[in-house]
Formats: sequence, C-alpha cells, structure tokens
Amino acid sequence: MMIAVDGPAASGKGTIARALAAHYRLPWLDTGLLYRAVGVSVLRAGGNPDNPVDAVAGCDFPDQLLDDPELRSEAAGTYASRVSVHPVVRAALIERQKAFANQPGGAVLDGRDIGTVIAPDADAKLFVTASAEARAERRYKDELKTDPEADFAAILADIEDRDRRDSERASAPLKRADDADLLDTTNLTISAAVQRAIALVEARTGKR
Ligand code: C5P
Repeated sequence: MMIAVDGPAASGKGTIARALAAHYRLPWLDTGLLYRAVGVSVLRAGGNPDNPVDAVAGCDFPDQLLDDPELRSEAAGTYASRVSVHPVVRAALIERQKAFANQPGGAVLDGRDIGTVIAPDADAKLFVTASAEARAERRYKDELKTDPEADFAAILADIEDRDRRDSERASAPLKRADDADLLDTTNLTISAAVQRAIALVEARTGKR
C-alpha cells in the first residue's frame, strides 16, 4: 500500500505520515529532508540558492547529511524552499523518491508533490492543512522551548512566504491532487488528527 501525504509547512503532515507508517508498518520517507539537504549543502558552500547552477551542485550530498540536526533549522527550511523552485533540482531528486514509493510492500511519503508528481497512483492521498496562524503558533511554541525571544510575527511571515513560494512555483507546486482527501488540523489535537488520517486511509483502501 502506498500512501501520499502532502501539505504546507507545519501543517502536521510529517507527524501524520510517521504515525500512518507505524500504524500500517510501512517504511516512511520525509521528502522535505532531501530538499533541506540540498539547501544546507548550498548554504555551507556559500552558494546562492536562487541560482540553479549553485542549487543543483548541492544535489550531490552524502547520505549521512540526512541525519544532520542542522537540517531542522529555519535557515535550512528557507534554503530548501528556495532551491526546490528549480526544475533541475526537482529532477535530480525524483528517481530516489519514486524508487522509495514503488518499493515492494508499499511506503508512506510526505512532501508537497507526492500525490501529484511522485506517486499519482497512490492508494490513499491526504492533503493536510491548517490556517497559517495555527501553523505559526505551533512553530512559535516549539521555538520558545529553546529561544525565549522567539518572534511570532517573524515566524508567521516566514510561513506565509514559504506558502507563497511553494504554491506559486511553476514546477510541481504545492497543490491538492483531485483525488486527495483534505484533512484540516487547525482545531485538532495530534491524536485526533492521526485518528482522522487512519479513518480516511481506511475508507480509501479498506485496510485497518
Ligand atoms: O516539509 P519541509 O518543510 O521539510 O520542506 C522544506 C521545503 O522543501 C518546502 O518548503 C518545499 O519548498 C520543499 N519541498 C518540496 N517538495 C517536497 C518536499 C519539500 O518542494 N516534496
């Protein structure tokens, strides 16, 4: 069984994808990490993420970079969003994602274009979303744990910027697939969102 989970930053899609993978005992790939690895490679090389030549040079990253905690930083997220605009970068990462999606036994992948480009034939597709304010609030609470000066307005502006860049790019923009089920997590707890996700997958596949 192949499950595609897409949605904007901080919508809860990663948490939901991880929980679905555990529930159905499937391998899981967070495809955002691949773009973050490219972003961090460009950052470390002093390259310009808006320049496709610099950005594509970052696609040759070593696998161990995927475990680097720096990938979780806001800077890595912003660089990831900027490098992911370039079709050459998307093309360089596509085979790896398709191979993961098509492995025997199935998989769960989360990202922006899983249900539309990477696995258009997925057995179940979820489009996970939440209001920009709710997403910024989650990120703000998270940041406050390590940074007492976290700035809600700056976080909200960053989320809105990222939404705009991800939705408006010409190549594989963030967009709900026609056959994806919408899951709005704005007013849901994590466990309610996960229960709802499992119910939606079950309704599509008949699998508990
Ligand atoms: O999901 P995450 O926030 O880690 O993704 C970082 C960035 O990588 C996104 O803002 C998006 O621009 C890009 N991305 C993408 N396609 C994917 C996954 C992530 O363009 N499948």
